[in-house]
Amino acid sequence: MHEQVYQSLMTPGPIPNAISEPFWSAARRNELALQRCEQCSQWFFYPRAHCPHCWSERISWHKASGQGVIKTFSVIHRPSHPAWLPAAPYVLALIELAEGPTMLSQLTGDRVVGAKIGQSVSLRCVPVGDFILPFFEPI
Ligand SMILES: [Zn+2]
Repeated sequence: MHEQVYQSLMTPGPIPNAISEPFWSAARRNELALQRCEQCSQWFFYPRAHCPHCWSERISWHKASGQGVIKTFSVIHRPSHPAWLPAAPYVLALIELAEGPTMLSQLTGDRVVGAKIGQSVSLRCVPVGDFILPFFEPI
Protein backbone atom coordinates (compact mmCIF):
# COMPACT_ATOMS: atom_id res chain seq x y z
CA MET A 1 0.00 0.00 0.00
CA HIS A 2 1.19 3.54 0.65
CA GLU A 3 3.84 2.91 3.28
CA GLN A 4 5.40 6.38 2.97
CA VAL A 5 2.05 7.78 4.14
CA TYR A 6 2.20 5.50 7.18
CA GLN A 7 5.62 6.81 8.19
CA SER A 8 4.28 10.37 8.29
CA LEU A 9 1.26 9.55 10.49
CA MET A 10 1.06 11.16 13.92
CA THR A 11 -1.00 8.38 15.47
CA PRO A 12 -1.25 7.63 19.15
CA GLY A 13 1.15 4.71 19.43
CA PRO A 14 1.25 1.62 21.54
CA ILE A 15 2.47 2.04 25.12
CA PRO A 16 4.92 -0.81 25.72
CA ASN A 17 5.22 -1.95 29.31
CA ALA A 18 7.36 -4.55 31.07
CA ILE A 19 5.03 -7.33 29.93
CA SER A 20 4.65 -6.30 26.26
CA GLU A 21 8.13 -4.90 25.55
CA PRO A 22 9.45 -8.17 24.01
CA PHE A 23 6.58 -8.05 21.48
CA TRP A 24 7.47 -4.50 20.37
CA SER A 25 11.21 -5.24 20.35
CA ALA A 26 10.55 -8.17 18.00
CA ALA A 27 8.51 -5.93 15.68
CA ARG A 28 11.50 -3.59 15.44
CA ARG A 29 13.48 -6.62 14.16
CA ASN A 30 10.67 -7.45 11.66
CA GLU A 31 9.79 -10.49 13.77
CA LEU A 32 6.70 -11.63 15.59
CA ALA A 33 7.18 -12.72 19.20
CA LEU A 34 4.51 -14.65 21.06
CA GLN A 35 4.24 -16.01 24.55
CA ARG A 36 3.87 -19.74 25.21
CA CYS A 37 2.91 -21.42 28.43
CA GLU A 38 5.53 -23.80 29.83
CA GLN A 39 2.85 -25.59 31.86
CA CYS A 40 0.25 -26.40 29.14
CA SER A 41 2.31 -25.56 25.98
CA GLN A 42 -0.39 -23.25 24.54
CA TRP A 43 0.50 -20.08 22.66
CA PHE A 44 -1.41 -16.91 23.38
CA PHE A 45 -1.78 -13.28 22.37
CA TYR A 46 -1.98 -10.47 23.67
CA PRO A 47 1.00 -10.32 26.06
CA ARG A 48 0.09 -11.26 29.62
CA ALA A 49 1.71 -12.10 32.96
CA HIS A 50 -0.06 -15.47 33.12
CA CYS A 51 -1.41 -18.12 30.75
CA PRO A 52 -5.08 -17.48 29.84
CA HIS A 53 -5.62 -21.26 29.40
CA CYS A 54 -4.34 -22.64 32.74
CA TRP A 55 -3.37 -19.48 34.65
CA SER A 56 0.23 -20.61 35.06
CA GLU A 57 2.83 -17.88 35.45
CA ARG A 58 5.47 -20.17 33.85
CA ILE A 59 5.43 -18.46 30.45
CA SER A 60 8.15 -17.55 27.98
CA TRP A 61 8.67 -15.57 24.77
CA HIS A 62 9.43 -17.23 21.44
CA LYS A 63 9.93 -16.11 17.88
CA ALA A 64 6.73 -16.98 16.00
CA SER A 65 6.52 -18.02 12.35
CA GLY A 66 4.85 -14.80 11.22
CA GLN A 67 2.47 -16.92 9.15
CA GLY A 68 -1.32 -16.99 9.40
CA VAL A 69 -4.61 -16.77 7.58
CA ILE A 70 -7.21 -14.01 7.35
CA LYS A 71 -10.09 -14.88 9.70
CA THR A 72 -12.08 -11.80 8.74
CA PHE A 73 -11.40 -8.23 7.66
CA SER A 74 -12.98 -4.80 7.26
CA VAL A 75 -12.14 -1.88 4.96
CA ILE A 76 -11.84 1.23 7.11
CA HIS A 77 -12.99 4.42 5.40
CA ARG A 78 -13.62 6.44 8.59
CA PRO A 79 -10.85 5.77 11.13
CA SER A 80 -11.75 5.85 14.81
CA HIS A 81 -8.88 8.32 15.34
CA PRO A 82 -8.39 11.27 12.94
CA ALA A 83 -4.62 10.71 12.78
CA TRP A 84 -5.26 7.59 10.66
CA LEU A 85 -7.29 9.52 8.05
CA PRO A 86 -4.37 10.05 5.58
CA ALA A 87 -3.98 6.25 5.38
CA ALA A 88 -7.69 5.56 4.71
CA PRO A 89 -9.05 3.47 3.24
CA TYR A 90 -7.06 0.68 4.88
CA VAL A 91 -7.90 -2.87 5.85
CA LEU A 92 -8.04 -4.14 9.44
CA ALA A 93 -8.03 -7.91 9.75
CA LEU A 94 -8.21 -10.63 12.34
CA ILE A 95 -5.26 -12.92 11.63
CA GLU A 96 -5.38 -16.51 12.83
CA LEU A 97 -1.70 -17.09 13.52
CA ALA A 98 -0.11 -20.43 12.63
CA GLU A 99 0.64 -20.93 16.34
CA GLY A 100 -3.07 -20.64 17.20
CA PRO A 101 -3.83 -17.21 18.66
CA THR A 102 -5.84 -14.58 16.78
CA MET A 103 -4.38 -11.12 16.38
CA LEU A 104 -5.95 -7.86 15.19
CA SER A 105 -3.68 -6.25 12.62
CA GLN A 106 -3.67 -4.40 9.35
CA LEU A 107 -3.15 -5.79 5.86
CA THR A 108 -0.42 -4.30 3.69
CA GLY A 109 1.28 -4.93 0.37
CA ASP A 110 0.22 -5.15 -3.26
CA ARG A 111 -2.40 -7.87 -2.73
CA VAL A 112 -4.62 -6.11 -0.16
CA VAL A 113 -7.26 -5.40 -2.81
CA GLY A 114 -8.81 -8.78 -3.47
CA ALA A 115 -7.84 -10.23 -0.08
CA LYS A 116 -10.15 -13.06 0.98
CA ILE A 117 -11.11 -14.78 4.21
CA GLY A 118 -8.94 -17.87 4.57
CA GLN A 119 -6.11 -16.38 2.51
CA SER A 120 -2.57 -16.93 3.78
CA VAL A 121 -0.66 -13.93 5.07
CA SER A 122 2.91 -13.28 6.14
CA LEU A 123 4.30 -10.83 8.69
CA ARG A 124 5.51 -7.51 7.33
CA CYS A 125 6.39 -4.89 9.93
CA VAL A 126 5.65 -1.33 8.85
CA PRO A 127 6.91 1.96 10.28
CA VAL A 128 3.92 3.99 11.48
CA GLY A 129 4.95 7.34 12.91
CA ASP A 130 7.55 6.63 15.59
CA PHE A 131 6.64 2.94 15.88
CA ILE A 132 7.10 -0.30 13.96
CA LEU A 133 3.80 -2.16 13.79
CA PRO A 134 3.35 -5.83 12.87
CA PHE A 135 1.12 -5.83 9.77
CA PHE A 136 0.43 -8.79 7.48
CA GLU A 137 0.77 -9.14 3.74
CA PRO A 138 -1.53 -11.45 1.74
CA ILE A 139 0.55 -14.04 -0.16
ZN1 LIG B 1 -1.04 -22.70 30.34
